[in-house]
Amino acid sequence: ALYNQVQDLKGTIRVYCRVRPFLPGQSDERSTVDYVGENGDIMIANPYKQGKDARRIFTFNKVFNTNASQGQIYMDTQPLVRSVLDGYNVCIFAYGQTGSGKTYTMSGPDLITEETWGVNYRALRDLFQISKERTEMIEYEVGVQMIEIYNEQVRDLLVIDGTNRRLDIRNNSQLNGLNVPDASLVPVKCTQDVLDLMKIGQKNRAVGATALNERSSRSHSILTVHVRGKDLVSGSTLKGCLHLVDLAGSERVDKSEAVGERLKEAQNINRSLSALGDVISALAQKSTHIPYRNSKLTQVLQDSLGGHAKTLMFVHINPAVNALGETISTLKFAERVA
Ligand code: ADP
Ligand code: MG
Repeated sequence: ALYNQVQDLKGTIRVYCRVRPFLPGQSDERSTVDYVGENGDIMIANPYKQGKDARRIFTFNKVFNTNASQGQIYMDTQPLVRSVLDGYNVCIFAYGQTGSGKTYTMSGPDLITEETWGVNYRALRDLFQISKERTEMIEYEVGVQMIEIYNEQVRDLLVIDGTNRRLDIRNNSQLNGLNVPDASLVPVKCTQDVLDLMKIGQKNRAVGATALNERSSRSHSILTVHVRGKDLVSGSTLKGCLHLVDLAGSERVDKSEAVGERLKEAQNINRSLSALGDVISALAQKSTHIPYRNSKLTQVLQDSLGGHAKTLMFVHINPAVNALGETISTLKFAERVA
């Protein structure tokens, strides 16, 4: 690597928990978050039940309470963006049940201002800014892919003609590190270029879906920023990539109620999220066998999970009492990979 400023990142996998605030209209509700400690502890309890047994403590690298700003959430991501420009692969995930704030963290709210920019926008802004600071030493080329994984099928979200065909995954270093070589790779020069592409991606995602929200909660979307750098002094080259992943909603579907297409979707989501959990926890335990092949999601991200790659997962919880079951299962998932 040309720069080695990432040593201060202890370990390669970090898990942060973010608690979504109550939304307007929920102000009189009581929260299941009993306590958030400075050192990454979070205590979950049913506010209507007494007794120790009703409480559970989970520990993560950090916990962000409801008052955390988008800027604070992004703070620790900045060194990861820098490491992409140093030639590392980085994955940033948003995990949680539908409505818990995944898209808010990654992209921001619908009505966006600079203050509410999500991780995506901030990461891209820094990426272009840092690459500019280095222009005398390194010449960078940046390209973007955006895909969706729905029902274990990979689709290109950047096709202009709307054909949206199924794509193959190939783990082959001959292909310039592109695991989905047939997905459109669009060269970009600035943050605005990427924002324009993301709009196209969002539009393509809606194709065939009754409502955008429904589809987006049942598919994984992956925005990948590929970076190639040429050292102008030594002539050596490097490449790195940043995957920004808004995962499908993690809620379990009642098997007695879901039928047909909905059941199939739910099973596919379930399978891919547990495959992701299995891969990350195998990596965390330094296991010799990493089960990448069990889902399309882990196959697409194979080169960017493990090895020298760095992973950051934001797990999201909704503090409402009626979400308690999902909150516990989200935190259990997160604890397993932390
Ligand atoms: P998900 O993507 O997990 O389904 P969203 O990101 O769409 O959830 O969030 C659901 C709703 O909650 C949205 O209206 C969103 O704007 C709001 N929301 C989520 N997180 C926050 C937050 N930290 N602060 C304010 N509003 C939030
Ligand atoms: Mg969402």
